[in-house]
Amino acid sequence: MTTQTATILDGNKIAAQIRSEVAEEAKQLTAAGLRPGLAVILAGHNPASEIYVRNKVKASEQLGIHSEKLMPPDSVTTDELLRMVDELNRRDEIDGILVQLPLPKQVDSKKVLMAVAPEKDVDGFHPVNVGYLSTQRPGLVPCTPAGVIEILKRSQIPIEGQNAVVIGRSDIVGKPVAMLLLNNNATVTVCHSKTRDLPAVARQGDILVAAIGRAGFVTREFVKPGAVVIDVGINKITDRNEFDRFFRGDAAREKAFVEKGSTLVGDVDPAVAEVAGAITPVPGGVGPLTIAMLMSNTVKACTMRRGRGRT
Ligand code: NAP
Repeated sequence: MTTQTATILDGNKIAAQIRSEVAEEAKQLTAAGLRPGLAVILAGHNPASEIYVRNKVKASEQLGIHSEKLMPPDSVTTDELLRMVDELNRRDEIDGILVQLPLPKQVDSKKVLMAVAPEKDVDGFHPVNVGYLSTQRPGLVPCTPAGVIEILKRSQIPIEGQNAVVIGRSDIVGKPVAMLLLNNNATVTVCHSKTRDLPAVARQGDILVAAIGRAGFVTREFVKPGAVVIDVGINKITDRNEFDRFFRGDAAREKAFVEKGSTLVGDVDPAVAEVAGAITPVPGGVGPLTIAMLMSNTVKACTMRRGRGRT
């Protein structure tokens, strides 16, 4: 059990704030005859993807956003998906198109993602949106990285002039987080698997973002005392020894672990809460922001595409 000194940055609370703002915007757009619309393509059967898509559709309904789920079979071809995307690109009442990954193995995923019209690319992965982000032009920003910035800003954590260290350089998390921090005037260091003496580099961070995909990888020695630690990682652990390493003495978590046979841990060792100034928990930190920002992007896409001059 850790002796926690860090402030816990409550992602559920921040996501709820954003969702209520988005619901209000959706209401206003709908009143003006511009109900925001999101289409999700879920190809084939993948239990994890089915849960993610269900949650996205549910969130849309709760916020007054029209949503559609397209479910082509496992055998779908690249051409069939391209036609589906093309049709959605043409439909004016659809503002956001989300292609749930992974796609079946015979499909050329990159080709399908590239076919999504950039102004409807609510995942923010299209190179046109990547280019807008790096040149600070209005566009659609990837959801999880945008959520990281919302957590910092809404928790009144200064970014400008701070040393920010991002561990991870993926196209979907590490790189866009680094770009957003840079655009907000942080001095940014991006680390990866070839970085030398990672703990020493990470300790330079006033803000440390972990997006690695390894359970509890970031330990106390990576963290400058008082630093703000944002844990993007979501890792499922099922091993009792691993559980004990991270959560020994945490009775509530132990009960849930015994019942479910698993628990979630981030990329940051929970003991880091003893040295950090503030930290996002897992679950309940960055995770809830991802869907909130997807909803926010859908409303933004609607406003940018159809509401120009109106808002
Ligand atoms: P990814 O594509 O696998 O990228 C991992 C990055 O971590 C890579 O840049 C890799 O470096 C780096 N890395 C791996 N091992 C390392 C090591 N030992 N030392 C230093 N760097 C190391 O993962 P991702 O998609 O960015 O996701 C990262 C984590 O975030 C995962 O746990 C994922 O589940 C989670 N995630 C959460 C959300 C959310 O909604 N909260 C959304 C997306 C992802 P190289 O480039 O050198 O290989």
